[in-house]
Amino acid sequence: MEKQPIVGRFAPSPSGRMHLGNLFCALVAWLSVRSEGGRMVLRIEDLDTARCPLPYAQQLERDLAWFGLDWDAGGEGGGSHAPYFQSHRTKLYEEAFSQLSRKARVYPCFCTRAELHAASAPHPSDGLSPYGGRCRKLTPEQVAALSEKRRPAWRIQVPNTWVELIDGHCGPYKARLDQDCGDFILRRSDGVYAYQLAVCVDDGAMGVTQVVRGRDLLPYTPQQIWLLQQLGYPVPQYFHIPLLTAPDGRRLSKRDGDLDVGSLQKRYGCPQPILGLLAHWCGLLDRPEPVSAQELIPLFSWEKLPQRDIPLPAEFVRT
Ligand code: GLU
Repeated sequence: MEKQPIVGRFAPSPSGRMHLGNLFCALVAWLSVRSEGGRMVLRIEDLDTARCPLPYAQQLERDLAWFGLDWDAGGEGGGSHAPYFQSHRTKLYEEAFSQLSRKARVYPCFCTRAELHAASAPHPSDGLSPYGGRCRKLTPEQVAALSEKRRPAWRIQVPNTWVELIDGHCGPYKARLDQDCGDFILRRSDGVYAYQLAVCVDDGAMGVTQVVRGRDLLPYTPQQIWLLQQLGYPVPQYFHIPLLTAPDGRRLSKRDGDLDVGSLQKRYGCPQPILGLLAHWCGLLDRPEPVSAQELIPLFSWEKLPQRDIPLPAEFVRT
């Protein structure tokens, strides 16, 4: 039987100029796909339209192209699963929401925390504190009374089952849905569909078979696998990669120098030295020599990538 090509994706939330960390993720996702002759999809995760206006996505496309990271479908160019902007895919999320409401218990949640960042891409600082289930116990009368005051968010009740996966880079990982994830939000109180729902609908509908993304998203993967299964989609292979950090191991922040792509372009003038540094830090090159994205394809293998986060050299961050 002929082997189906891998379908990988890069799924940024363009809420500003692409950062070195985003570039690193895009590079590894791209190399993983291209080294296997696979197809690459660019999906713009702009659910939070106020934070992710179109010009940022357009800039991101130009930046990826500048580095030689191309894609077969997605972005403004479209493709067979267009649109590739989440802000234009609401109808699909609506359908999935109804489908899930028929299969599982989807209930209104009036807790104010429900609004917190549910539609934006998750971030480790949000923590993964499972929802206690307060609104799951509301009577229809209570729901009616609360609905007078405010619009609810909508959560899905998760079962008390374990979800296990073998991450292609991190190895075995498992979580018990009710204890470790809790009932999670499918739709925010302002009507915007949540990242967890959108990412599953899109990976499923776009035929994604390989997900390469930051290690900070590994804890969300069991609930995404469960959601994909509820929606009847196959589960892709996941690879969670180390994060670039400040020299002392902290997560990178704005204080850590000018690490957005615009500043790097000014500093280096061309992509090769920047790609050379990234390739060196992640074990693909012995020395940080200038290199093109294409030249890295034959050098890529998952075994070379470190398990631990990658602290940037102090001199790189300070300048
Ligand atoms: N849009 C998310 C982010 O930029 C990534 C989601 C994913 O790769 O699943 O952090």
